[in-house]
Amino acid sequence: MRSVDIAVIGAGAAGLAFAHHLCAVPGGPSVALVEPDRTDPRRPGPRTWCYWETGPGAFDDLLTASWDHADVWSADGLRTRHPLGPSRYKMLRSDHLADAVLGRLARTPGSGRVTGTVTRVRTRPGHAEVTVEHAGASSTLRAGWVLDSRPRPQPPGGRTNLVQHFEGWFVRTERPAFDPAAPLLMDFRVPQPPGTGLAFGYLLPLDDRNALVEYTVFGRAPWPRPAYHQPLAAYLCEVLRVGDYQVTAVEAGAVPMTDAPHPRADGARHLRIGTAGGAVRPATGYSFATSQRQARATARAVAAGRPPVPPRPYPRRHLLMDAVVLRALDQGRIGPDFFTRLFRANRTANVLRFLDGTSNPAQELAVGLRSPLRPMLRSCLDLARHHLGSARAQTADPATEVP
Ligand SMILES: Cc1cc2nc3c(=O)[nH]c(=O)nc-3n(C[C@H](O)[C@H](O)[C@H](O)COP(=O)(O)OP(=O)(O)OC[C@H]3O[C@@H](n4cnc5c(N)ncnc54)[C@H](O)[C@@H]3O)c2cc1C
Repeated sequence: MRSVDIAVIGAGAAGLAFAHHLCAVPGGPSVALVEPDRTDPRRPGPRTWCYWETGPGAFDDLLTASWDHADVWSADGLRTRHPLGPSRYKMLRSDHLADAVLGRLARTPGSGRVTGTVTRVRTRPGHAEVTVEHAGASSTLRAGWVLDSRPRPQPPGGRTNLVQHFEGWFVRTERPAFDPAAPLLMDFRVPQPPGTGLAFGYLLPLDDRNALVEYTVFGRAPWPRPAYHQPLAAYLCEVLRVGDYQVTAVEAGAVPMTDAPHPRADGARHLRIGTAGGAVRPATGYSFATSQRQARATARAVAAGRPPVPPRPYPRRHLLMDAVVLRALDQGRIGPDFFTRLFRANRTANVLRFLDGTSNPAQELAVGLRSPLRPMLRSCLDLARHHLGSARAQTADPATEVP
């Protein structure tokens, strides 16, 4: 039976972050990163991850692009350009990150990749056992700790359960059509979905003819894939007016936006990370930067001789604020104006810190005071009236029981 200090399950955004930072600890733990082979349907295809970062970052040499400004278009056609200083918005392809982290793992003594599908994790006294299946054979990996990013069903107890769902096309246009100076974070000139929810365009320019262009919806359930094609094509042709274009690659996703509490441990030595551990910010669908932050903190803990227990992904007050925003979105009390105003009325650096979960109470108060008061108050009352019990459950944190 192979034995390691830490087994990381899943080589997605979170698994790669933890493997990378744990391997960087001098004389650090042995790490096994378990990931299914390419034929396994559980393994997602290549994706694009974007995140804000101040100063140089661990993956700067892997970036596809980065920008120091970002644009927002309101529904009535007003564009505002926001300087991101002191941060940059960075775009990283998942396959580039995976190649780099797997290379580093292979060079770290005692560490490496394990190809296979995890079917079971059992906590034993003082360690855990991970059952891995591959090519019809089953093996057991013994680990001091397990950091598990396998997706799991949405936890119960959410008062509002929305989904950020989207399809994006990498397009190459015949003639120059994009401004490479700034990505378009939110473009509300797109057609809005029928019923509840809101939609926006998202555009990451690689140069003046190549870009990733997405049609994104905050709604109650994902759509069948063909349903994105008409609004996405209309966005490209009628709003962006790019002329003739070719689609060179496609990516799509559905990211949970829920105020359900995410248990962070399934056993004394079996901890959840990534989406499964609550790393997705409920009101934005972003998780990449948070997983990096948790992984760095966990590596620091290990370097100081403490157990590899990731810190809480977001402060409780952020989760409470997000619950209010989700509720207001779900009830149609806020819409495109809320987001365009968020960027227009506040210092961009504060908004970015707020969205990333790194803002302080003074910055949050400043953002809060510039938010529409009535819909937020009504949503607060909703939550308080109907779901006081689940608000208590949300603040309970099983990971605090982890030694
Ligand atoms: C297309 C797309 C684009 C996104 N873009 C951004 C973005 O720009 N910025 C941002 O912050 N967030 C983004 N998100 C949201 C979120 O950050 C990503 O979903 C991110 O990949 C979540 O990381 P994760 O590690 O939790 O899950 P994943 O990255 O999905 O990783 C889970 C891993 O577990 C593995 N796995 C599954 N089952 C098993 C098993 N039984 N045994 C072993 N391994 C298993 C899978 O193969 C996979 O590699 C995006 C999401 C999608 C879908």
